[in-house]
Amino acid sequence: KLAMGRPTASAGTQTDRGKMRVLLIEDEPVLGQAVQEQVAADGHAVDWVTRLDEADAALRAVDYALVLLDLHLPDGRGLDLLKTMRRGGDQRPVIILTARDQWGEKVAGFDAGADDYVTKPFHVEEVLARLRALIRRSAGHASSELTCGPVSVDTSTSRVTVDGFNVKLTAQ
Ligand code: CA
Repeated sequence: KLAMGRPTASAGTQTDRGKMRVLLIEDEPVLGQAVQEQVAADGHAVDWVTRLDEADAALRAVDYALVLLDLHLPDGRGLDLLKTMRRGGDQRPVIILTARDQWGEKVAGFDAGADDYVTKPFHVEEVLARLRALIRRSAGHASSELTCGPVSVDTSTSRVTVDGFNVKLTAQ
């Protein structure tokens, strides 16, 4: 039995400052665990389910910021879950996890309302980068640059400027 994060009804999208709650729907144990651990290490809360019925219950209970969706699950097709979400007006961002060489799945995924995809086998870093970009976009920040008065911080490059001039910082 897999260790799965139990969704709770009280949890919201934003659980902490910049911390998002993500639903991972993936039935491959090794892959699921790797994604869960690294997305959690990136500062997000991850609920991991392995079946469509569990995913459906979790989506009803929790206001997730983003969904990572495998397309082949033991009790059905991820694509059908995505179609049902979009038909019901659920616009939460969805990244589909597709198998290599299954380009038809990507097309079907986008047609069903997916926002992005990653191809298996993938580096979890790529999933994280796409996740961050989608969360930024869905939060209305297309740019990774945050500005307050003369100070700008680029969260993707870790570059800080004041009045347009670079500020030298240590890597940390
Ligand atoms: Ca699968």
